[in-house]
Amino acid sequence: MPRQNLSVNGRSYSWMDRPLVVVCVDGCEFDYITRAVAAGACPFFARMLRDGAAFEADSVVPTFTNPNNVSIVTGVPPAVHGICGNYFYDRETGAEVMMNEARFMRAGTVLAAFAAAGAKVAVVTAKDKLRGLLGKDLAGICFSAEKADQCTVAAHGIDNALELAGKPLPSVYSADLSEFVFAAGVELMRTRRPDLMYLSTTDYVQHKAPPGSPDADAFYAMIDPYLARLDAMEATIALTADHGMNDKHGADGRPNAIYLQDYLDEWLGASAARVILPITDPYVVHHGALGSFATVYLPPGADLPGIMKRLAALPGVERVASNAEACASFELPNDRVGDIVVIAQRHVVLGTSRARHDLSGLDAPLRSHGGLSEQAVPLLFNRPTSGIPGKPRMRNFDILDVALNHLDA
Ligand SMILES: [Zn+2]
Repeated sequence: MPRQNLSVNGRSYSWMDRPLVVVCVDGCEFDYITRAVAAGACPFFARMLRDGAAFEADSVVPTFTNPNNVSIVTGVPPAVHGICGNYFYDRETGAEVMMNEARFMRAGTVLAAFAAAGAKVAVVTAKDKLRGLLGKDLAGICFSAEKADQCTVAAHGIDNALELAGKPLPSVYSADLSEFVFAAGVELMRTRRPDLMYLSTTDYVQHKAPPGSPDADAFYAMIDPYLARLDAMEATIALTADHGMNDKHGADGRPNAIYLQDYLDEWLGASAARVILPITDPYVVHHGALGSFATVYLPPGADLPGIMKRLAALPGVERVASNAEACASFELPNDRVGDIVVIAQRHVVLGTSRARHDLSGLDAPLRSHGGLSEQAVPLLFNRPTSGIPGKPRMRNFDILDVALNHLDA
């Protein structure tokens, strides 16, 4: 087994002294954990909070799934790795481009680097949309719960994923999809003992159930014994989230949405400007493509400061920034962000045109993410640390650095 340190994307990582499991719990506000612990539902989480290391960390803005998962596995922000949402707009071709494939990534992953150096690496994701990004150039196991029935050794490094997890193929809109990830992860640790494993869940439950609610507590109570089993197998456990989650509805249960495209059509003429919602993906049922972050592409010659001022005056808007300001503040790639970034307040979401959002699939009052109000996430370890020098502000994408370089032996 090689034992050298690795340098990836300008950061240095020590070789793991025992297997490392990095868990990204999708949409995990810290409160979900503390409330479930307070309810007595999560004895292992309680132990991590007490005996391990626990921080509040900042995730990447936009607080969406793909930019954060890719930041966590590369150790760098979207300005470096390029993935700042699910879509960007290509001005030259006039096309909205979906960037959920590895070819859109501008940096390699720490996972692939360890695998190339001889480590056994495994990745299990809930939704298949993340598999391509997380599996970039990875020589190892990489599959999704969503398509666990379609695994081949050639493409996924494993061919019996349903048998491995001992569970039937879960529905893509279910808590079972996340449980499958943990069941498979525990069995991988028991049977193959990977040196480095990345487990990423889905926020199906968090989109419906607030912290402390019965469904939320049940979800964390489901996770708890799987983590305890990984801990019993002497793995280091490092857990964080891609983003938090907040209520985005009024007292009547209807979404608090600002339909930006409708305003811009009124101000500039129909379809002169284009609103891109980077939360949009093939799985919109649980959020109706409504999140708290949008980017706007203006037509040539448009009055940028004037339009920014009008957007900032809309009730419910928290922040309006130019491309340069937003990319500097949030470490985003300039060429994949529009002329203006709009961020909504804690309980508000942004839409394109009202007519373009199908909200018929929302069977619970909207909870969503994307803004600054969903930036704080937990960063938990099952081992203590004596300190992390030079880190006044922890980020979720520091997780591999802390886990490999800063935990006590
Ligand atoms: Zn997410």
